[in-house]
Amino acid sequence: TDQINGASSGITVVRKKLLGYVGFANLPNQVHRKSVKKGFEFTAMVVGESGLGKSTLVNTLFNTQLYPPKENVELTHETPQTVEVKSITSDIEENGVKLRLTVVDTPGFGDFVNNEESWKPILDSIESRCDAYLEQENRVNRRKLVDNRIHACLYFISPTGHALKPLDIEFMRRLHTRVNLIPVIAKADTLTEEEVAAFKERILADINYHNIQIYQAPAYEYDDEETIAENREIMSKIPFAVVGSDKEFEVEGRRVRGRSYPWGVIEVDNEEHCDFVKLRQMLIRTHMEELKEYTNDVLYENYRTEKLAAMGIQQDPTVFKEVNPIQKMEEERTAHEQKLGKMEAEMKAVFQAKVQEKETKLKQSEEELYARHKEMKEALDKQRMDLEEKKRRMESGRPMTPEKTKKKGFSFNK
Ligand code: GDP
Repeated sequence: TDQINGASSGITVVRKKLLGYVGFANLPNQVHRKSVKKGFEFTAMVVGESGLGKSTLVNTLFNTQLYPPKENVELTHETPQTVEVKSITSDIEENGVKLRLTVVDTPGFGDFVNNEESWKPILDSIESRCDAYLEQENRVNRRKLVDNRIHACLYFISPTGHALKPLDIEFMRRLHTRVNLIPVIAKADTLTEEEVAAFKERILADINYHNIQIYQAPAYEYDDEETIAENREIMSKIPFAVVGSDKEFEVEGRRVRGRSYPWGVIEVDNEEHCDFVKLRQMLIRTHMEELKEYTNDVLYENYRTEKLAAMGIQQDPTVFKEVNPIQKMEEERTAHEQKLGKMEAEMKAVFQAKVQEKETKLKQSEEELYARHKEMKEALDKQRMDLEEKKRRMESGRPMTPEKTKKKGFSFNK
């Protein structure tokens, strides 16, 4: 028995050796069994121009007809002129394990004359799914959260063999901080092995040059050699050169899924022929949980922090997602009240200033009136005084009555 003192908490932790089997070593299995019972959930998005084989690949990946076959898709004038976001959910089961799989398709992407904003509806959809999750997290009762966030985005690159198109770069640049980007080279059977190798190099160089963050499986200290090697092998295949097909052919007595050419069959499930197996391994067998965790812990968390920061709410980085809903409501209420108080004070100030202004104006015109009144009165007084002066002078000087004037005038005329 050895003792450890919990330095900060003051709690003494006693470490003991177990004398017998207790059973909690089975915890991981319990968790696993519960997940198996509940089933797993995964949401993947596929993006790329029409006809690159997105539906076919999804069907091939999950070995099910999630999408009905559509041969020789052609754009018609009926094709909508915007990028749509459509999702299909299906419950699939393998050896008693259930998977609720949602595939989100984005028809219309890259199909128009002007594709400048093709990425926007897709980004909006990804963010609104995060918003919906955030909204649930903020509710008081958050026991059963519905998670519609996108856990992985397969981006289909056209097998041109040259380089990424501006559309590809723009899409990845806009989306890489919001979703796990997994680039794939579509219809890789249309390129030779050397062409695929050179194209991959060029794509990775472009991605690097534009500082685009594509999904990288994290390495853990506790991973064993085998896992590390396996991960490295998977990651070395990105961008996965894929081939999809729902047709089977007979090759040397085996039935294989693939695409038939005059010189032979390109096998979907043959690692010598394409990277389909590696993509499936990563997406379904080894990294599904990892993709979900990264979506939740990093991509979503960053989005959430940015969003809260934009609303002026600072988060304590040491508090990891522990938001007390009551405290949060209280804080929001205080902030709201403060805002209202501030607005009221501002309105009062404006009102006061207006009143003041009016009063000054009134006073000013009153003074002006008074001054004018005074001026006029003074002018009148002066006029009166002048008149009185004139009168006095006239009275003191020659007394001129109207009769005298008449007589005098009369005698003068005589
Ligand atoms: P979406 O519009 O991207 O969903 O493309 P679809 O899955 O509907 O496929 C369009 C066409 O391409 C169909 O005729 C498919 O048979 C064909 N196709 C699908 N995947 C591949 C592939 O890996 N290689 C080749 N050569 N053709 C493919």
